[in-house]
Amino acid sequence: SEEKSLNFIEEIVENDLNSGKYETLVTRFPPEPNGYLHIGHAKAICLNFGLTQKYGGYTNLRFDDTNPVTEKTEYVNSQQEDIRWLGFDWKNELYASDYFDELYGFAVKLIEKGLAYVDESSADEIAALKGTPTEPGQDSPYRSRSVEENLDIFTRMKNGEFADGAYILRAKIDMASPNMLMRDPIIYRIKHAEHHRTGNKWCIYPMYDFAHGQSDSIENITHSICTLEYVSHRELYDWFIEKLEIFPSKQYEFARLNLTSTVMSKRKLLQLVNEKLVSGWDDPRMPTISGLRRRGFTPKSIREFCERIGIAKRENLIELSLLEFCIREDLNKTANRVMAVLDPIKLVITNYDKDAEDLIGENNPEAEDGGGTRVIPFSNELWIEREDFMEVPAKKWFRLAPGAMVRLKFAYIVKCEDFVKDENGNVTEIRCTYIPESKSGSDTSGINVKGTIHWVSAAHAKTAEIRLYDRLFTSETPDAEEGDFKDYLNPESLTVLPNAYIEPALADADLDGRYQFIRKGYFCLDKDSTADKLVFNRTVTLKDTFKK
Ligand code: ATP
Ligand code: MG
Ligand code: MG
Repeated sequence: SEEKSLNFIEEIVENDLNSGKYETLVTRFPPEPNGYLHIGHAKAICLNFGLTQKYGGYTNLRFDDTNPVTEKTEYVNSQQEDIRWLGFDWKNELYASDYFDELYGFAVKLIEKGLAYVDESSADEIAALKGTPTEPGQDSPYRSRSVEENLDIFTRMKNGEFADGAYILRAKIDMASPNMLMRDPIIYRIKHAEHHRTGNKWCIYPMYDFAHGQSDSIENITHSICTLEYVSHRELYDWFIEKLEIFPSKQYEFARLNLTSTVMSKRKLLQLVNEKLVSGWDDPRMPTISGLRRRGFTPKSIREFCERIGIAKRENLIELSLLEFCIREDLNKTANRVMAVLDPIKLVITNYDKDAEDLIGENNPEAEDGGGTRVIPFSNELWIEREDFMEVPAKKWFRLAPGAMVRLKFAYIVKCEDFVKDENGNVTEIRCTYIPESKSGSDTSGINVKGTIHWVSAAHAKTAEIRLYDRLFTSETPDAEEGDFKDYLNPESLTVLPNAYIEPALADADLDGRYQFIRKGYFCLDKDSTADKLVFNRTVTLKDTFKK
């Protein structure tokens, strides 16, 4: 394989390992268990796990569960499932909440060093003294409390003596810092809330900035990789580590994944789920890993996508069509070609006097192992696509029309002799003759036709429901539009075709199977399928139909 140039994080890692700064590379993936993982998380997963696959060392899975209100065990489980499905495994399964005792100890240490204090100002008072990015803030009247008093109140905060919001613990840094986050940030708050793991043991919880870096440090994380929003937090990250004199983890920031026609925050995706605007976290239109899985994406295609988008230091917007390109490339090599008629109309062959016969179909001419063949039953009554017949043919129409000939894929050439209409003028049946010498593979008819269409034998076909998907949003950038992002949902993102016919070989489809429905796209079985009714999702069309 060709040499790939290193991304900027790989360069940093190589330098740090070569210079002996660290002996073992340790990274972590730190999701907050407040929702299902999405394709943006996949980028961070591929980056963190990819680094230790390449350079050795290991990656921890750390649940960043310091906010008791939004976190659930359901999310912990789904996040683990999704990481494993993507093809990665962690060394240690860890929880920031497991460090609550240690983090509490760190807060006490800061107080003892005169570097943290208890404030009882209201939120408004704190905001009023915070200053602006261009003007310095002012010291809180509680900033000069004694160490003893701070320790006493902080202990009582922990013991549950006070209501939510009565006190906070702040780091004592610099109210004039040009970095607003350094102006005595809040590090602990009172919250009488049950936590999904620690129950009611705690009624004070550390803020993100006080928990994240120290958790990294406790785990000896060497390279703590996060998205660009955290650039301004780095100074604080380093300050805590320095003052606490603990393992020097370092934070590095990369550009988050933004995808067109998609929202990618768990909070917003949760709104879609709660307001029943989608069928759930794994709705095949969702950008979640579970949604993409149900839609028919493979782990390989998602890893390939993350590889192609690369790691940048500047914000950018990636086309959804690139993700679709990646799954098309993968499925082209692996998916068997089968026949399914989504919008059926009957075709009768009037001169076919056998009951039926078995034809042989090639499964996948693109497959590395040749793909093999299968049996496809043929008879005198077939289903074909309604759109493959035109009563009054357009120019350059090479499919069926009165008097016209086409090839039936894997079968014979037929000629349209007649058609039947109902009382409303809708075509209900197409009547053809076939050319017996034109059988695919042994055609001696000498007839050349330009069009080939797919079909299924009516007597042998199975019925199925087919679900077609389009972009979930009509705007390329729903987050950036005026008003609510939900105003830009695409009302036509789901089309259900309830009466499709599929060739009998598909009756054995399982949830892992991937199929190319000839001329119609790549499909997979949906979990809503029952023994009586198979349901297929279209993963992606055969060609890029997105407007550029
Ligand atoms: P969300 O708003 O979707 O909840 P988050 O950053 O709050 O995103 P976390 O669960 O905290 O979600 O994220 C875990 C890891 O995944 C973090 O390291 C974060 O930087 C990374 N991550 C989240 N979203 C993206 C994205 N769009 N692109 C790349 N990495 C991401
Ligand atoms: Mg987060
Ligand atoms: Mg979040």
